[in-house]
Amino acid sequence: MNTQGGIAILGSTGSIGRSTLAVIALHPERFRVAVLGAFSSWQIVVEQARRFHPDTVVLAEPEAAARARAALRECGSTARVECGAEALAAAVTGANVQMVMAAIVGAAGLLPTLAAVRAAKRVLLANKEALVMAGRLLMDEVCSAGAEVIPIDSEHNAIFQCMPAGYLPGDAAPGVTRVILTASGGPFRCTDVTQLGSVTPAQACAHPKWKMGRKISVDSATLMNKGLEVIEATLLFDLPETRVDVVVHPQSVVHSMVEYADGSLLAQLGAPDMRTPIAQALAWPERIVSGVQSLNLTQIGKLEFEPPDHARFPSLGLARAAARAGGTSPAMLNAANEVAVQAFLDRRLNFTGIVAVIDKVLQRLESSPARSLGDVLDADAAARRLAVALIELGAGAFA
Ligand code: NAD
Ligand code: MG
Repeated sequence: MNTQGGIAILGSTGSIGRSTLAVIALHPERFRVAVLGAFSSWQIVVEQARRFHPDTVVLAEPEAAARARAALRECGSTARVECGAEALAAAVTGANVQMVMAAIVGAAGLLPTLAAVRAAKRVLLANKEALVMAGRLLMDEVCSAGAEVIPIDSEHNAIFQCMPAGYLPGDAAPGVTRVILTASGGPFRCTDVTQLGSVTPAQACAHPKWKMGRKISVDSATLMNKGLEVIEATLLFDLPETRVDVVVHPQSVVHSMVEYADGSLLAQLGAPDMRTPIAQALAWPERIVSGVQSLNLTQIGKLEFEPPDHARFPSLGLARAAARAGGTSPAMLNAANEVAVQAFLDRRLNFTGIVAVIDKVLQRLESSPARSLGDVLDADAAARRLAVALIELGAGAFA
């Protein structure tokens, strides 16, 4: 039982954060919320704090933190309300925190995730961008601090569940020859490629199987999400990119698979609902109720698998190239993607421009070794600057 320490939920107002609180609410005797962290949605955080009684609430935005402080004081809450990235990083290292749900979206999640790792917490990792950026550096910190990383991303959590007993991410697993990530194919799997340039943010965010935040929804539509997940898998399971396969599986019922040397292929199946991997990680190595309905296999009828369409979705190839190049390449890929996705959501860039911007950034900037966090942050900043400039230059820059 995990009753000794509390849980810090970074990104508590987001899709993963809210699903985490939904699972915790089913087990009040087992879990205690110690920290809630979010960007600016202070009303939601105040509501969450009134229900879950955290020790600390941290908002990135000063105005939002001030409003949350006033609102919580008014209702007699004893939660400390703090503000900013440093306060969040400090809050996760406290003795009152045993597990950290790293569910901030994007590069902003790197520093608090790193702080949690260095403080040897159990880190439930949803924030794949942090891992893609910092790569080996983050996994080396996991090893040297004696932290535990349990993957939340449904594919990586599925792989973790199919690994040999006692296995923990960071190490190579004995007897494992390959992992196979499944991809739904996103909302544009069958869309005429000539139409992709004119799809809207609303269409891109309407994922056929999963309800997620806007950034990861767009990543799923370009298939860059799967590209980031290939890199994530190489790091978590210590495998070369060539041993991380991707298959499109439109039903999104098989969440991923692990192949063993004897030819066995182990899969984890379940409804496409993030409360399953969240509950698995919160209770590991035990099992608890998640609130997710059981699968009705006869209703699903058939499970289909097909190869990804690289011509339609060139992002997967870009991510694999970045994984092979190593060094600062994954950080640059991730940074350019974050900038381009935001520009698409703001309607400053069309859908096919996202991958075009990333491609240009990776062609123009040279990869270098990532020896320190400074190297990673410099590469991230350079890629962001170039991506912003390319988008400002407009469509002509992508020819
Ligand atoms: P979301 O947009 O719904 O939520 C993001 C959360 O991060 C919000 O609580 C927001 O307030 C917080 N946040 C953003 N910037 C911040 C900052 N600078 N400081 C503090 N907090 C900040 O996103 P999501 O869909 O919940 O995804 C979160 C992460 O989990 C992403 O990395 C995503 O790739 C990963 N993930 C999500 C899903 C899913 O089903 N939603 C599945 C797998 C992996
Ligand atoms: Mg995933």
